Parts: sequence; C-alpha cells; structure tokens
Amino acid sequence: MVAIDFGLIHEAAQVLLSGGLVVFPTETVYGLGALAGDASAVARLYRVKGRPATNPLIVHVASIDAARKLAGEGWNPWAEALAQRFWPGPLTLVLPRSFGLADAVTAGGPTMAVRVPDHPVALALLQACGKPVVAPSANTSGRLSPTLAAHVEEDLGDSVDLILDGGPCRAGVESTVIDLTVNPPRVLRPGPIAPALLEAVLGGLATGPGNETIARSPGLETRHYAPLTPMMSFDDYREAVQHVAISRAKGHSVLLIVFEDRQADIVLSAIPSMAESALYAALHRADAGRPDLIVVVLPPDQPDWWAVRDRLKRASRGMDLLQA
Ligand code: AMP
Ligand code: MG
Repeated sequence: MVAIDFGLIHEAAQVLLSGGLVVFPTETVYGLGALAGDASAVARLYRVKGRPATNPLIVHVASIDAARKLAGEGWNPWAEALAQRFWPGPLTLVLPRSFGLADAVTAGGPTMAVRVPDHPVALALLQACGKPVVAPSANTSGRLSPTLAAHVEEDLGDSVDLILDGGPCRAGVESTVIDLTVNPPRVLRPGPIAPALLEAVLGGLATGPGNETIARSPGLETRHYAPLTPMMSFDDYREAVQHVAISRAKGHSVLLIVFEDRQADIVLSAIPSMAESALYAALHRADAGRPDLIVVVLPPDQPDWWAVRDRLKRASRGMDLLQA
C-alpha cells in the first residue's frame, strides 16, 4: 500500500498546471507527465525524451467519465465495454481525436490514445490536476522503460521538475494498446491485458505480433525498449548458449537471461505476468554491470507471452549484425 502525500500531490498538480513536467508512477511503468492541452509543455516533453514527433502520446485521465467527456462523439460501445471491464488498468483505447489536445499529442493524426491508470498516486494526481495529462514512459526515447523512481533519476533526473516515488511498478510493461477506430478492433501493442481477455469482451479482434495483420504503430520501427548494452534474442536455448560460449571464447563478457529453470545469469519467471513485472528491472540491472553483450532466450510464441516477446525483440532489433 502506497501512502499518499496529498501535500506533494497538490504541489505536483500545480507544477503540471503551470506547464511543468512531473514524473509519476503508474501500474505499468513510470510516466513523464505534461498537460495534454499545453502545446509548449508537450513540446518540452518531446525534447526531454528525445522522442520523434511521429510517435504519439497516451492521454491519461482520472475516470471513465473523464474519458467519455474527452472523447465526446468518438466514444463508442466497444470503448464503454472495455472501460467498464478493464479501467482503471493497463489498457489504452485509440479513438477519434477530440478537441483540446495539443497537435503534437496525436502526432498530428486524426486519432488519440487514452487510458485510466490503476495506481493510487497517478489517480490522485490526475484528480488534483483535473485535466488530461500525457504520460509516455519516463525514459530517453529508445531506452529501457523505468519501473523504479531510481531508474528515472538516473536517466532524466536533471531535466524534469518533479519525480513522485511510488515504489516498483506492479505490471512492469507498457499498456496494451487497442485501436477502436477500425472494425474489428485491432491490438497495436501487446501488453499486460492479453488478447483472449479483450476477445471475451469484444467478440472479434485482429491481433498478434508476428501476425501480418498487426498495425505498425508510429515510432516503433527502430530499436526500442533497449538497454545500452547490445542485446541478442534467440528462440532456441541451445543456439543461445552456443552463441554465449563463442562470444566468451573471444574474451567478451556476456550475460545470459532465460525464462525458466535453466542455467543462466538471470532467470525470470515462467509465469508471464510475473516475468513482465520483473523484466525492465532485470534489464536495468544487467545493463548496470556493463557487459559486452546481453543474450536472451525468448519465452514461447504464445499470446500470453506476446508483450514480453515484443519488448525483447524490439530491444534486440538490428543486433544480428553482431553475429558477424
Ligand atoms: P508510450 O511510449 O508508452 O507512451 O506509448 C505510446 C504508444 O501508444 C505509441 O508508440 C503508439 O504505439 C501508441 N499510440 C499513442 N497514440 C496513438 C494513436 N493516436 N494511434 C495509434 N497508436 C497510438
Ligand atoms: Mg516508451
């Protein structure tokens, strides 16, 4: 249970309302908050993160009612059903864009992304602020997402106005993003809410990384969610171990990460939600040791594992060059 310091929340809301940047905990990862309607605050947020202008932001609000009001005519029965079932929670809805958002928030596009986070500090802040707040992960663009205030301190500590520490983030990976402007709705980014849960509410769903139908979300083409250390991912354990052995024989320091009870430097849980929750902290720790290479054996290609596989594959993108 997080003890909420309402004096500090009030101060943080004032910082947001006067155009500042506030880092706050959510159940997914730490967010870098700015008022969604304040073009200059949003511009500063993009600068601080070094985020490409083509990558839109998720708008956070305190309640389903606030989301309905924000979306206006764009709110639809799918949104209502999903919100009732999963909010507050790690599900982001893409809806037609509404008024009152800085252009940069939607990357100039006709849609917006919105969610109600499930964290007492985030909710208290959104409530105190009373306005929609954008909150991408509080890290330099492309790097590992922060699941501890210390991760943020190290990466962005000097360039933000306030950091609210709420301890470790429970879910640990970014929200599931679902596009409700297409029929059937489509998962744009896998996350803590698994496709089967969405399907149970919606009936039909287009989904799946590795599936040709998955939409390309802007800004996710390059290496992302990545440690500073080069990283390679393998589906096959033996292949990974072989690569580690070869690299070590060449004198490189290599860290091996696996998802089950095997011989490795870091062993993550074989339960998807637990592995998600520990993922970024493990990668931050691995990175801190400054090895030459991180090798990871991917968990199985099954829907419950898509969020973890997606992040690890993006983090190791382009690294096949190292195999030479
Ligand atoms: P984050 O980096 O966690 O803040 O997540 C932002 C991600 O949400 C983007 O990279 C997109 O994948 C997705 N997103 C945000 N807004 C939109 C939108 N209007 N349309 C499609 N995807 C969006
Ligand atoms: Mg991010």
